[in-house]
Amino acid sequence: MQIRLVDLKAQYRSIAEEVNEAVLKVIEKGNFILGKEVDLFEQQFSQYCSVKYGVGVASGTDALHLALRACGVKKGDEVITAANTFIATALAISFVGANPILVDVDPETYNIDPSKISECIEEQYEIEQLTGKLINKQTGKYLTTIIPVHLYGHPADMDPILEIARKYQLKVIEDACQAHGSEYKGRRVGSIGDAGCFSFYPAKNLGACGDGGMVVTNDKNIKEQVKMLRDYGQKVKYHYEIKGFNSRLDTIQAAILLVKLKYLDEWNKSRRENAKLYNQMLKSLRIIPPVEKEWAKHVYHLYVIRIKRPKELHDFLNSRDISTGFHYPIPIHLQKAYQSLGYKKGVFPVSEMLSKEVISLPMFPDLNCYQIKKIFEMLSDFCYQMNHI
Ligand SMILES: *Cc1c(COP(=O)(O)O)cnc(C)c1O
Repeated sequence: MQIRLVDLKAQYRSIAEEVNEAVLKVIEKGNFILGKEVDLFEQQFSQYCSVKYGVGVASGTDALHLALRACGVKKGDEVITAANTFIATALAISFVGANPILVDVDPETYNIDPSKISECIEEQYEIEQLTGKLINKQTGKYLTTIIPVHLYGHPADMDPILEIARKYQLKVIEDACQAHGSEYKGRRVGSIGDAGCFSFYPAKNLGACGDGGMVVTNDKNIKEQVKMLRDYGQKVKYHYEIKGFNSRLDTIQAAILLVKLKYLDEWNKSRRENAKLYNQMLKSLRIIPPVEKEWAKHVYHLYVIRIKRPKELHDFLNSRDISTGFHYPIPIHLQKAYQSLGYKKGVFPVSEMLSKEVISLPMFPDLNCYQIKKIFEMLSDFCYQMNHI
């Protein structure tokens, strides 16, 4: 039996009846666009994140894009984010016409390194006398925002980031697309910055049966802006206050997510138990397991290990019916699409090292201890072979 990286079928089987019923109900009512389930899910998910408001949008990428706009980020602005992230974080910044300013990540958590943010600001920016804003000494553009990413399900170190943001009047938008239910010092991610952005892409910890996303915030103005932006720029039908987009969360997806939200904590618990078992087993091997800092609650969207020859391990496991993934094989600054940013190879050594050493092992709530044991045995065989070449 093959062990997939993520097995969505097992999860569906466990809640099929409830999901089917919820979908049929929407189809029968025919309220496909911004139906009552969207409202309900916005209420319940924002409550889950301990924030006041949630606005459902079409994807996690759109959540980031619209949150940036709602925070007033404009063409030509600069936005700091991590070099080690999924491409969508950078793309959302580009959608606004702003420029990503990348910084390296922490070698333990693989998340944005707050001290590197300070370094970047001190080296590249100065405070403009007239406005008090940070202006790039080279480009003459304003730095307006930081997007920390809670990558793999582990929270970014938010306190020092918030301190930097306060000092320089920057907005903080959390990319929580991989971290539903994750906590930083007891606080749910998404509730810590000015806005939090979630994806409900099927494979995420809370996933729909298609695309979906949400912006959560305690800021009424950000909420109102995102609401208009997702719906052509209107508050009242046919009265367009701003030029908006068409980016709404489908009612059918909201109905499915309402069912799944009830199980999210249970599923995250299973992920954490699986991670614990992996961690125990991997101790005996020359593999670097993921770290969970004492201030963090990791929800293991991905179980990412480091090893010297990830490509060989991938082939080895693949030929034994175990799927793996690479998250991510090329950091943002070395992607062709971002050549124009002008970063050279070697500028973000931690991100570049990770891109060569990381490999993700199967991780999903329904993964069981027998499967983990089997994966461990294969890993042992691989490590044994590597030591004897
Ligand atoms: C999945 C993801 C996104 C984008 O979400 P989509 O719903 O696929 O658009 C953004 N950032 C990160 C870190 C992600 O993992």
